[in-house]
Amino acid sequence: MFDRVPDMAAKRAEISPNVVAFRDAGTGRDWTFAEIDRAASGMARGLREAGYAKGDRLAIICLNRAEFFIALFACQKSGVILCPLNWRQPLRELVVTVRPAAPRGILHDALHTRRARALAAASGMVVHEIETDMARWMRLDPSGPAQAVDGDRPWYLLFTSGTTGRPKAVINTARMAWANTVNIGQAVGLTARDATVNYLPLFHTAGINLYTLPAFLTGASTTILPRFDAAALLALLASGQVTQFFGVPAIYQAFSLSPGLDAVDWSRARFGCGGAPLSEPLIRFFAARGARVLNGYGLTESGPTVFLMDAEHAEQKIGSVGRPQMLTEVRLDGVPPGSERAGMAGEVLMRGPNVTPGYYDDPAATAAAIDADGWLHTGDVGRWDADGYFHLVDRMTDMFISGGENVYPAEVERILNDHPSVLEAAVVGVPDDRWGEVGAAFLIARPAAAPDPAELRAWCRDRLAAYKVPKLVNLLDDFPRTPAGKVRKPELRKLLT
Ligand code: ATP
Repeated sequence: MFDRVPDMAAKRAEISPNVVAFRDAGTGRDWTFAEIDRAASGMARGLREAGYAKGDRLAIICLNRAEFFIALFACQKSGVILCPLNWRQPLRELVVTVRPAAPRGILHDALHTRRARALAAASGMVVHEIETDMARWMRLDPSGPAQAVDGDRPWYLLFTSGTTGRPKAVINTARMAWANTVNIGQAVGLTARDATVNYLPLFHTAGINLYTLPAFLTGASTTILPRFDAAALLALLASGQVTQFFGVPAIYQAFSLSPGLDAVDWSRARFGCGGAPLSEPLIRFFAARGARVLNGYGLTESGPTVFLMDAEHAEQKIGSVGRPQMLTEVRLDGVPPGSERAGMAGEVLMRGPNVTPGYYDDPAATAAAIDADGWLHTGDVGRWDADGYFHLVDRMTDMFISGGENVYPAEVERILNDHPSVLEAAVVGVPDDRWGEVGAAFLIARPAAAPDPAELRAWCRDRLAAYKVPKLVNLLDDFPRTPAGKVRKPELRKLLT
């Protein structure tokens, strides 16, 4: 499936040349599909003239802007592999991150000139500026007609955010992008009349694939904001210019505390969410304002969308990530066929055209994640309920064992998040002489609330088995987070050692 696919920008330019694909709020420029294709074709030629061959890697470090996607489409046309870099990483970390990809050059915006030059010097790369070099390439005449694209060829690499350890370069292909477009497009009902917004960082799968690439492939338009800015996003939502919005839970949390919240008619757009557990109070908070925030589940390695909750059951099935989408098979490791509906938990396995072929130049990591039958082993534990809805239990790596019993922190966090004084909870297992490990809870208080650790432990005792009740309760102003807003649990553990 999707073995050979059309050149995406060229195809869109053929179907809807004069429709606006991107409104770039940073540069103030609108780009039609035809202009995007033209600029990407020029850049593909520029890359060839600069000595790039098929399979060479090109790093990119920039805030969100239309040129990022033009570079992405230029890479699809030329066979060069784009490597978006995390601008939050210090130089030392970036040197380690790019090592396995060994890019030939780095493209950067004006904001990251110094970092790009230092990284290029440390890693032996050529430096290209978006404002000068890329601008010149984009004006070149294309060298020939658009060619079909090999759906399996590495198109761009994403370095996973590293919540669980060593970063790996996930290969992304055109096949994955088309499959994700079917999966998410069908689930949220994406059409050419929709408008979405791009603001999540572009070195993360959500920044590219939720929903910018699916919107592009569907002929919908996307407003690009340079980065997350709650006030700017709320103003855009209030103006009615967004019909399909995707955010991670931390973004919805930020919205819930923002003064611009009530200027938005929350019933006018559709809201998707994923990447981390979505708490019941947050779902209810937005439901009370007319918005159904639909919880979904996927990974960088799965392109990412696999599960999404349907709007009809959003409030009935709180805690579930919905059902698996069209193109992806799902099963639970170790759970015999036929007993899935009995609520047995197991590791989530996925297979389908949305799944990565593997990690770049890392056959050992690829073989550890994808088995001989093509199943991706996600490292997440899940279970089905009696109605065929799926529930994530937790990450296998976050589970800890207290007095011989398995504890899934996500279950404890759900209970703590329900407490009226708690804005957000994160639970980790820490060593304990008596029990092997015990739970330590970290909490962010709601504004003006003062959670009392003893009362919170009593709250948990009323609702959970004793071995699950956190022995330690700590208040923090915020959590250490990845750029996608996920809690970095290893860093929380370090706070106690
Ligand atoms: P790394 O792979 O480096 O450890 P990461 O796991 O955070 O980083 P991503 O691919 O960004 O990398 O995230 C995918 C993970 O996010 C899933 O495996 C799952 O654990 C978690 N996740 C995604 N959606 C949800 C959700 N709706 N609820 C709970 N957890 C989720």
